[in-house]
Amino acid sequence: MSSALAALEAQVRADLARTAHPKAAWLRPTLAPDGRAALDVLIIGAGQSGIATGFGLMRSQVTNILLLDKAAAGLEGPWLTYARMPTLRSPKDFTGPDLDIPSLTYQSWHEARFGSEHWQQLDLIPRGLWAEYLLWLQRVVELPARNGCELLEIAPAADGLLAAVVKSAGVVETLHARKIVLATGQEAMGNWTMPEPLRDLPSAFVASVGDDIDFEALRGKHVAVIGAGASAFDNAATALEAGAAEVHLLCRRAKIQLIQPYRWLTFRGFLRHLSDLDDAWRWRFMRAILEMREGFPQPTYDRCARHSNFFLHQGAPVEAARRVSNKIELHTPHGSIVADFIICGTGIDMNFAGRRELRNFADNIATWADRYQPPPGERSARLDRFPYLADDYAFTERIPEETPWIANIHLFAIASTMSFGASGSSINAMTTAVPKLVHGLTRGLFRADIEQHWAAFKAYDVPQAVVARQVETAAKAE
Ligand SMILES: Cc1cc2nc3c(=O)[nH]c(=O)nc-3n(C[C@H](O)[C@H](O)[C@H](O)COP(=O)(O)OP(=O)(O)OC[C@H]3O[C@@H](n4cnc5c(N)ncnc54)[C@H](O)[C@@H]3O)c2cc1C
Repeated sequence: MSSALAALEAQVRADLARTAHPKAAWLRPTLAPDGRAALDVLIIGAGQSGIATGFGLMRSQVTNILLLDKAAAGLEGPWLTYARMPTLRSPKDFTGPDLDIPSLTYQSWHEARFGSEHWQQLDLIPRGLWAEYLLWLQRVVELPARNGCELLEIAPAADGLLAAVVKSAGVVETLHARKIVLATGQEAMGNWTMPEPLRDLPSAFVASVGDDIDFEALRGKHVAVIGAGASAFDNAATALEAGAAEVHLLCRRAKIQLIQPYRWLTFRGFLRHLSDLDDAWRWRFMRAILEMREGFPQPTYDRCARHSNFFLHQGAPVEAARRVSNKIELHTPHGSIVADFIICGTGIDMNFAGRRELRNFADNIATWADRYQPPPGERSARLDRFPYLADDYAFTERIPEETPWIANIHLFAIASTMSFGASGSSINAMTTAVPKLVHGLTRGLFRADIEQHWAAFKAYDVPQAVVARQVETAAKAE
């Protein structure tokens, strides 16, 4: 480790010690049915959201926690797997996982690694470095984490606990926890979608941007990319750079989305307080924002446009697909495109039942459709399917009292967006969204223990001072 990094880590320890107040432990161990101590919070997902949530809990003296991730250490999140851009898309000064501790920011880490001049010269954060920074953060704040461990199922257990069935290295075991946070990323509540005409094509012809795609195999091939968001462009660029003969990007809308609504909403008032608004305002804003979809940054577009064999088709929804020998013919209102391989960057659709870990309660998770009827001009069947979360990010029940235990399962992912605005799965919102989640978790733990706290308070008999008897006597005599 370089001396600059060692000095930064010493600074982190000093900063954390100086801001540790109040330090008193306040949670008592809870016994699980198997006789072991239950975790206070089990966090599924050790990406940036899981790390920041765990860190926030540790700072609130909720230390009996565990982070689980099915990915191997270092491969959490999309950064080193299916993220196909050289740098992050968000500006380099967006802080987040550091929870406002200056020595824990990406900038501090980058300067310790490469010097402050290098930081000044840096345009956007290389994605590999972002992944490295997240690993460093997890280590330096000493988060307990287990990799290669997948959550399979959640069920209710005795005494209000949750039983999480997990699997690692082929061994299945049950962990008990008072609360579970699902920080499981883009796919937490659904699947990557494909336009209907492509759904039945064999995987040799079609993939989603979230899949492991062999781009080398696309050399000399004709590729169609469906969708016009940043990930669609990144996949088009990766195919072009791998030597594809032609890449056609098909945008359903008449004009591609050039405005990035997430840039507009990045101010503290919106990030912190959208979730305080009534359903009508939350829906109005988030429907408008999510129906616009996310735009793409200039470098993302330039990476494609610099290739003369890149073709952008606007107003080109895929109306039909036909297999012609070993190619696919795609029909759009403006004619046909023949492709050897198709990559869909058409987003995620909610499908709770499709996620194994949700299956015990998927059909009782309340959605926005269960709770709010928008006016006619504001309807959206896609957004109706988003979960309707409580103010602590917990699931709420569609039918009350059928699965009351889901009030202890908290979702911090892209699917939290309809209820909270930018929150899970978004770096720009972490500084406000993670503290809100941590606040909700500690509030729930405190409330559930209120009888214990009352009894502890009544039993509290530690004198703060010793009053000497002779002083008392002397005062009386005066
Ligand atoms: C391609 C791409 C590029 C992006 N670029 C940017 C950007 O530049 N700027 C920005 O602000 N945002 C960006 N985002 C959005 C967001 O910042 C990322 O999605 C980020 O990874 C979200 O972090 P997360 O911790 O919520 O989820 P993730 O990083 O996805 O982490 C979730 C973790 O949960 C684990 N997991 C899931 N299910 C289970 C299970 N059942 N058991 C155990 N573990 C499980 C996964 O293995 C994963 O490691 C991007 C997103 C994508 C997809």
